[in-house]
Amino acid sequence: MDAGLFIGGEEGPAQSGERFDVVAPFDLRQIGTCARGGIDDVESAVRAARLAQPRWAGLAPEARERALLRAADEIERARDTLVPLLVDESGSTVTKAGFEVSYAASLFRTAAGEVRRLYGETFPNDRPTRLSLVIREPLGVVGVISPFNAPLALLAKMSAFPLAAGNSVVAKPSEETPLVAVVLARLLHRASFPAGVFNVVPGFGPESGAALVAHPDVEGVAFTGSTEVGRRIGGVAGEQLKRVQLELGGKNPCIVLEDFDATEAADVCAVGAFVHGGQICMSGSRVIVHRALAAELSSALVAKAASLRPGDPWDPASPYGPLIHTAAVDRVQAHVDEARAAGAEVLTGGTASGRVYAPTVVWEPPRESTLWREETFGPVICVTVVDDLTEAIDVANDSAYGLSASILTHDVRRALTAARQIRCGSVHVGMHPFQSNALAPIGGVGASGVGRSGGRYSVEHFTEPKWISVELGPSSHPF
Ligand code: NAD
Repeated sequence: MDAGLFIGGEEGPAQSGERFDVVAPFDLRQIGTCARGGIDDVESAVRAARLAQPRWAGLAPEARERALLRAADEIERARDTLVPLLVDESGSTVTKAGFEVSYAASLFRTAAGEVRRLYGETFPNDRPTRLSLVIREPLGVVGVISPFNAPLALLAKMSAFPLAAGNSVVAKPSEETPLVAVVLARLLHRASFPAGVFNVVPGFGPESGAALVAHPDVEGVAFTGSTEVGRRIGGVAGEQLKRVQLELGGKNPCIVLEDFDATEAADVCAVGAFVHGGQICMSGSRVIVHRALAAELSSALVAKAASLRPGDPWDPASPYGPLIHTAAVDRVQAHVDEARAAGAEVLTGGTASGRVYAPTVVWEPPRESTLWREETFGPVICVTVVDDLTEAIDVANDSAYGLSASILTHDVRRALTAARQIRCGSVHVGMHPFQSNALAPIGGVGASGVGRSGGRYSVEHFTEPKWISVELGPSSHPF
């Protein structure tokens, strides 16, 4: 597939004429080429978005609602195009790709529901003759920068809610997965989105991404990606006093208490850490197990991991496919090797075949090791053993990150104690930490970012409350 830039309702080449190749991460097959947007293209896209935004915001709610609902229908209708593209472009399995398509459609439907919930408020005034109103107004143009790992769902999440609130969007997708973003633009166009409301400028982060963040006419930025790039974007946005939402990395704890069944815990932990080869921000990569269950969980995890045969994402038997690039494989290997050298036991896995990394379980890596502390973004579960819930919570909180967490127990009091005391954006009981819901506030604390996306939380983030007051009585002046 060949794709262009999508600006002002039209698909076309970059002003420089440059293109770049898009390659399938599993077998390095070239699957297409894409126009390489640069600074001038960002300029054109922001201009188009700026021009289109007031009319979009001024439409009757029903018109925006209908457009978002039509977009959801178009996404579902395009399943047969989107699923193969996601499998080829991002190395997703067919199941994960299918989930992304359904979730993207559900995000647009949920966003349609938010259009009629742009509530304002009134509040009492010191003078009874005065009326105070608060209305919510869109920011204007929102720049959306998305990562490679869930290229359709995350682009949809970061775009649908700001659009529902009356903003226009200029999106810069990951250079690893640009094609699916352009297909989304085509689908919104087919869903009769007015020209310029949703624009896509594929290109490279430090070029078009940085230009988009820094553009003075971009009033808000939604970014999902690594903590390192997020810090840079947050710095630019802070300098320019620009609203920013940063959804960054995680090193998510999954606490397993002694009352939980070890085999069931291993199943939950394996899905939580191995889905998409661990290339998920909420991947449950740190398992914290009670000593009484440790031996049983160790055997169950090894048995589970050894039963999995990752590989070709097109193969229905593959639980996951390749890592996105060779540097990702090298990073995972370096983390595992460093932990092993520091005394950790690699119970299973620890090797790669091409870009496919084996399901890996590392027992008791030192708590100062890179593997334990940093985001590995690969299919590696590291396990540490604790003596009680208090220690488990302390270990969970001893992290720079704070995205998601989970606890496996049937004891509601211990579960809720952990849920309240773990410092992070969400906690899931009886599940792994990788959970999604279009209405939920998704986001983290610390190195996992700032702001929340999803449902009304996104709408609040990308609108500005405005106070309007009216004197209804006779005027009186102090002088
Ligand atoms: P990345 O940070 O390398 O890239 C993300 C996006 O930022 C890409 O579009 C890239 O082109 C762009 N970019 C890079 N440099 C830039 C710059 N200087 N200015 C502007 N844009 C720039 O991340 P990735 O490797 O694509 O994705 C993986 C990361 O994303 C992981 O850390 C993962 O945890 C995180 N992530 C977080 C969430 C969440 O909800 N918290 C969800 C998915 C992924």
